[in-house]
Amino acid sequence: AHLDRIAAVDGKVHAFLHVDADGAINAARKVDAKRAAGDELGPLAGVPVAVKDVLTTRGVPTTAGSKILEGWRPPYDSTVVERLRDAGTVILGKTNMDEFAMGSSTEYSAYGPTNNPWDLGRIPGGSGGGSAAAIAAYEAPLAIGTDTGGSIRQPGAVTGTVGSKPTYGGTSRYGLIAFSSSLDTPGPCARTVLDAALLHEVMAGHDWRDSTSIPQAVPPVVEAARLGMTGDLTGVKLGVVTEFNGEGAEPGVLAAFHDALAALTKLGAEVVEVSAPHFQYALPAYYLIAPSECSSNLARFDGVRFGLRVGDDGNRSLEEVMSLTREAGFGPEVKRRIMLGTYALSSGYYDAYYGQAQKVRTLITQDFNAAFEQVDVLVSPTTPFVAFPFGSRTSDPYQMYLADLFTIPTNLYGGPGISVPCGLSEGLPVGFQIMAPTMADDRMYRVAAALE
Ligand code: GLN
Repeated sequence: AHLDRIAAVDGKVHAFLHVDADGAINAARKVDAKRAAGDELGPLAGVPVAVKDVLTTRGVPTTAGSKILEGWRPPYDSTVVERLRDAGTVILGKTNMDEFAMGSSTEYSAYGPTNNPWDLGRIPGGSGGGSAAAIAAYEAPLAIGTDTGGSIRQPGAVTGTVGSKPTYGGTSRYGLIAFSSSLDTPGPCARTVLDAALLHEVMAGHDWRDSTSIPQAVPPVVEAARLGMTGDLTGVKLGVVTEFNGEGAEPGVLAAFHDALAALTKLGAEVVEVSAPHFQYALPAYYLIAPSECSSNLARFDGVRFGLRVGDDGNRSLEEVMSLTREAGFGPEVKRRIMLGTYALSSGYYDAYYGQAQKVRTLITQDFNAAFEQVDVLVSPTTPFVAFPFGSRTSDPYQMYLADLFTIPTNLYGGPGISVPCGLSEGLPVGFQIMAPTMADDRMYRVAAALE
């Protein structure tokens, strides 16, 4: 049914870069055979999932939205994908994204943008716009995204779906094509909070192949979602971040956010105002740290090891082939980030830029720690504005970067954050963000499920 739905609507939505119909049918048949044999099956056995094209899938094209990886078929599965297969889920295909997960609109995909199912002339968010749009358009019931600065939560917000970024290290980065290794976090996209929690539980957990993976049990997110669904939040303290509650967000977004807060208060939650004075520096710090790490990570695309190779005619030097390949293979936003990062890391500038940004990162973590002494979770709108029309923010990079104003602090801190739909502004979906302490992912699922 989902493959039929994709065939019917993806020409308009363009959520998928690759549909693996044969692989999906085979996986579904395997589950059928197990069921017939009386084997015990997990809660997601047989459920279709779409996977962001930044996670490797064995033998199935994986491009990270870039021309430089066109035609590459990875020889191995990422841990997340391996766990999806073990759980019996059916992988439908690979979803569109901004090149190497850099962007907030999918307009930086080398394969053309994804259209928001709510209004095909508007962006579906990014970088994981394909995963969110696939869910919103009923092409898939579940999807996987990755969140470095907001790429699961912001697409969730602007497509009226649920997007959850787990604690950094709670889900494995093995086989996730690296953008910014100290921030990249795979997570679930779904239409309901419970669905997201079920997927979270299946994909998360310690992985020895990722050195930053946390060797602790997965927080009880499914149990927490079910608890939240009872609609009782007595004793739960929500901290409204002062710095995110005024300027910067569209009035319609703030109105929907405040309506949701009122609804949560009726369920018994207590709302407290909490100041996080360093959050205002999160965006500039992120745009030094993430490009710095990206400039190092993307050095591996050298025209030799993976994908595209340009100018290798036997007369050119290795250096020439490398630079011709990178010139042709990378898009403008990726080049901008590599330039920024290379500059910020260069000797003489390192302390002033990268070093300073790392200090700001510590201050932001201290803000979170202080806040969580007063409240159970922090809340804010997910994104300052609703889905914007194509082309309206591409001429000025800073305007695009602002889409993640409210999501980036969580990434710098390393905690979990979730976006859950909380109404409409001008007929377009608004997201409500809930942020929790590291490894307390269950707390945010409880509140999110209650709000839903
Ligand atoms: N939009 C942010 C960026 O462009 C975040 C991307 C992400 O989370 N992958 O870097």
